[in-house]
Amino acid sequence: MAVIRERRLPKGNLTLDLPGQDPTGGPDCRQRFSFPPLPLQPVATLPAAAIPTSGEHRLSDFEKIKVLGHGNGGTVYQVRHRRTGSVYALKTLTADDSLRRRQIAREVEILRSTDSSTVIHCHGVIPTPSGDTALLLEFMDAGSLESLLNRRGLPFPELAIAGIARQVLLGLSHLHSRQIVHRDIKPGNLLVNAAGEIKIADFGVSKIMRRSLDPCVSYVGTCAYMSPERFDPDSYGGNYDAYAADVWSLGLTVLELHLGHFPLLPPGQRPDWATLMCAICFGEPPELPETASSDFRDFIRRCLQKESSKRWSVAQLLAHPFIAGRDKEESDLLFREIISPVAVAVGS
Ligand code: ATP
Ligand code: MG
Repeated sequence: MAVIRERRLPKGNLTLDLPGQDPTGGPDCRQRFSFPPLPLQPVATLPAAAIPTSGEHRLSDFEKIKVLGHGNGGTVYQVRHRRTGSVYALKTLTADDSLRRRQIAREVEILRSTDSSTVIHCHGVIPTPSGDTALLLEFMDAGSLESLLNRRGLPFPELAIAGIARQVLLGLSHLHSRQIVHRDIKPGNLLVNAAGEIKIADFGVSKIMRRSLDPCVSYVGTCAYMSPERFDPDSYGGNYDAYAADVWSLGLTVLELHLGHFPLLPPGQRPDWATLMCAICFGEPPELPETASSDFRDFIRRCLQKESSKRWSVAQLLAHPFIAGRDKEESDLLFREIISPVAVAVGS
């Protein structure tokens, strides 16, 4: 399945005018390392899938404002509807083979089957003249948690993190109740708007569990946030639970917001696949420092159990004192205060 990552490199044959570089990651973004792609593994050839498009939009209806981000799946642009003036994010995806077409079709299907303020909304799916697919997404004007962390240059306070974790857990609860596993939860895939809402985005490697008898142990997603059982199911998985893998990724993400750097490596260490695999499978799970509250430390411990069966479920975590014991209004207000200068900068 690692082939998916390799094949997701954008071809750049979008027909919108190409912009100058203007990523939203902020000045510190360049100092962060990008995690390495997964090693190549053979995959079976899959039949081509039709990517359903929605007829109500054409690419020419939109003008490009700037580039919002680049990922393994393609480029994301901020665009404006020429007639209404509404602003959206447009994610372009290149389907260069049947595997990739299946993957895009699944991303579209998942976006269409979700309906929650905690998951990014897809307004339409637009075919491009060059045969690519573009997803018209709601625009999140404060960027991702990754870019927020970079721009801020400081970890988030614990109270704000509790509110962030609550929102992501609600998003995961929505997905898991529909038997959807995300498989790539990380700060770059959690998007924020000026109202302080956090939405789960990027379903490029997600999976609908009811569709398959496949136990779903696979190398997809960003390996840095992958749980131990996805590398080594025999040692850590037992009866593999794909939902628990999302919880591990959430735990690492939340810890990163507190530490201000990726938790499994010392700050500044360049990641490579082998180092990450050793840290995840053979190292002790990372812990919070003593200065953090006991509730917070316990919450992280419940998420980062190496044995997947010992990890708490999303429903259990929502009831954990770190989440349920906090004043929601207070934590949301603090988070809005933190993001307001960033939202203005990114959205403009
Ligand atoms: P990767 O493979 O690196 O996870 P990807 O190609 O699958 O990325 P996304 O994660 O969907 O693409 O988007 C890449 C980046 O573009 C995000 O991290 C974010 O900065 C920006 N972005 C994506 N969607 C939106 C949106 N709806 N609103 C604002 N910014 C967005
Ligand atoms: Mg992404």
